[in-house]
Amino acid sequence: MPTFEFADRVKHLPPYLFAAIDAMKQEALSRGVDLIDLSIGDPDLPTPKHIVEAMKEAVEKPAHHRYPSYEGMPAFREAVAGWYKTRFNVALDPRTEVLSLIGSKEGIGHIPLAFVNPGDVALVPSPGYPVYPVATLFAGGESHLMPLLEENGFLPDFRAIPESVLKKASLMFINYPNNPTSAVTSRSFYEDVIELARKYHIIVCHDAAYSEIYYDGRRPMSFMEVDGSAEVGIEFHSLSKTYNMTGWRIGFAVGNSRVLAGLGKIKTNLDSGVFEAIQEAAIVAFGTGEEVLSGIRGVYQARRDALYNGLRGLGLHVIKPEATFYLWTKVPPPFDSSGFVAHILETSGVLATPGNGFGSPGEGYVRFALTVPVERIKEAVERIKKALREGFRKNGNASLNLKP
Ligand SMILES: *Cc1c(COP(=O)(O)O)cnc(C)c1O
Repeated sequence: MPTFEFADRVKHLPPYLFAAIDAMKQEALSRGVDLIDLSIGDPDLPTPKHIVEAMKEAVEKPAHHRYPSYEGMPAFREAVAGWYKTRFNVALDPRTEVLSLIGSKEGIGHIPLAFVNPGDVALVPSPGYPVYPVATLFAGGESHLMPLLEENGFLPDFRAIPESVLKKASLMFINYPNNPTSAVTSRSFYEDVIELARKYHIIVCHDAAYSEIYYDGRRPMSFMEVDGSAEVGIEFHSLSKTYNMTGWRIGFAVGNSRVLAGLGKIKTNLDSGVFEAIQEAAIVAFGTGEEVLSGIRGVYQARRDALYNGLRGLGLHVIKPEATFYLWTKVPPPFDSSGFVAHILETSGVLATPGNGFGSPGEGYVRFALTVPVERIKEAVERIKKALREGFRKNGNASLNLKP
């Protein structure tokens, strides 16, 4: 039998750090453990009913059964432009400044193919969404990691990037509200991004997947709201998190028309767009009433408060999210990220994601996702409490500040 070698780009994929965790999870499940899985970045809530109903109607129409256009139906792109106008007061030309995507992951995965030559550099936040460096690798580029550190508010420090790297950089990925750190940012950060991008001719790709998952009424801004952003970049967006539509596969990119045209060149040659019935349902999704959206936010806020207060009560250092459905939490000594995840899984059946899985600067943290009901979160806190005591006994570590 011939052996088929994987291509170098596949061989060179970074080790999949979550594989060990997956194996432990399967092992726990096979033992019959009542697992509380806080590792999944996928909403457990259903897609709102009116969107599902719109899909049912749309799927009946034979006109939608044919190949869609790769760039999206005009009505979909107009709906995106309309949503940006209402939500961010940003005016977009739906013909040239909006592009449909088969989920924003598709666009993020493809953009380096359009703009990164072998040897070029992409600036990539770390910890971060693993697709940024992998897409760069697939294009033959090199990722320069920009560490997101707590002391910098989880923003990249551009002064730490060598001039020689900036000169070779063709793309920069940024992502706020941020997965996994939950950090949000401000206009002045985006202004710095634009200044840097102008100076070094870098295309900015802002990933705004979590802009609608926010707390306490503090709505994150769009990169596209900032003067000059459309000169240097684009923003990726998605219906996945906003409307609980991760399985539907629809997203979009907006902004610089030249950059979108480059991404479009890749797409016309690789895919055939989004099923039109899904685009029809998405148009309806953009019109979702505030009461539905604040209902979804309310669910996450109750969960956030339960987990944040619970973990803090155990003496853990937790970043309180203003947005996203993640809690970025420091692991208590003597554990490292993977050790802590393994320990609480073994002793309590609670599963978190080790921070180093998002890049080495994430070492020392774990990510908890708020994708289970409040009662399960409370149960998880109780169990982690016991797991920490267990760790305390085993390790005799006096730095664990546990309440009796
Ligand atoms: C979930 C997520 C996405 C969105 O993925 P889709 O492909 O649109 O479902 C993009 N970026 C980040 C950081 C995410 O966590």
